[in-house]
Amino acid sequence: MSEAVRITRAATKKPKPKDSELGFGTVFTDHMFLADFQEEKGWYDPRIEPYGPLTLDPAAAVFHYAQAIFEGLKAFRGVDGRVRLFRPDKHIERLNNSARRMCIPPLDPDWALRSLVELVGLERDWVPASLGTSLYVRPTIIATEPFLGVRPAKAYVYYVILSPVGAYYAEGMNPVKILVVDKYVRAVPGGVGAAKTGGNYAASLLASEEAHRAGFTQVLWLDGAERRYVEEVGTMNIMFRLGDQVVTPPLTGSILPGVTRDSALNLLREWGLSVSERQIAIDEVIAAARSGRLREAWGTGTAAVISPVGELSYRGERIAINAGRIGELTQRLYQAIVEIQYAKVPDTRGWTLEA
Ligand SMILES: *Cc1c(COP(=O)(O)O)cnc(C)c1O
Repeated sequence: MSEAVRITRAATKKPKPKDSELGFGTVFTDHMFLADFQEEKGWYDPRIEPYGPLTLDPAAAVFHYAQAIFEGLKAFRGVDGRVRLFRPDKHIERLNNSARRMCIPPLDPDWALRSLVELVGLERDWVPASLGTSLYVRPTIIATEPFLGVRPAKAYVYYVILSPVGAYYAEGMNPVKILVVDKYVRAVPGGVGAAKTGGNYAASLLASEEAHRAGFTQVLWLDGAERRYVEEVGTMNIMFRLGDQVVTPPLTGSILPGVTRDSALNLLREWGLSVSERQIAIDEVIAAARSGRLREAWGTGTAAVISPVGELSYRGERIAINAGRIGELTQRLYQAIVEIQYAKVPDTRGWTLEA
């Protein structure tokens, strides 16, 4: 699609919350980006409109068969006052991979990148400036065709909404307690675990609720076939520092290929650390924790960047990691990624794009 983006400005602007009042995903900016898809036309009518409700037919395929995908990335106000998106190209690449898995027509990557830059550029005053705050960007595609048959829909809408979000670690970085679940699984081989599709999150809610009720922050998912190999923690990828090596589960199709995971692996390799993407059984993790060989564990994801794991609970046994303190590599990774995001150091890797 090469059409120019049509812009309709909001008649009134919403008040902007103070940085200190920001939470996650409750406040939205004045405008949103939209484009439609029809089989005959492809993607068409890219436009920016005032933020507001969508009108959909109750028979729209998304409501019935969950043909829907999304992304989550952030724009940061750097220490120089400029606004930059973090690795938007990687997020668009993943959106298109999710699209293919869910039989949704992919977007032209250059055009999709432009949609993010134009919208965030228009809403730049909404990007908060305090350290730790950011503008969360949520690109979404849903099937809109009113049809109850089970087949890929012939009509879709792509939209992007923006939400200023507060510092994830407003009270400082705190290691979390994780429950290893073997009663439920998140994804199975051949399933949709590698796609950022709504159904995966609906399917994960019960396990999370049970974990919360038992006093845990997140669940650690095991593989769907044997319930033995570590997959992910909550909506983050997971990494272990075993002796002098960093180990993380490989991208075999049931794990979400995290952009933060990729950033962390790049940095670790640049720093000369030994990194292994391999299957790791929960028994190996527990044994290593007992013997002291498990020095650190952390989750990676856009929301928290890096989240230290202080304790694992598996089959009734609770095991502290690094005595429940933040590990040295965990801290270093967090620092390094955040410094790039806020342009405290020059971006030598082409990870940021000014909006
Ligand atoms: C989004 C997500 C991640 C993290 O991906 P990032 O690109 O690092 O934000 C990991 N696991 C799941 C299940 C996710 O939905």
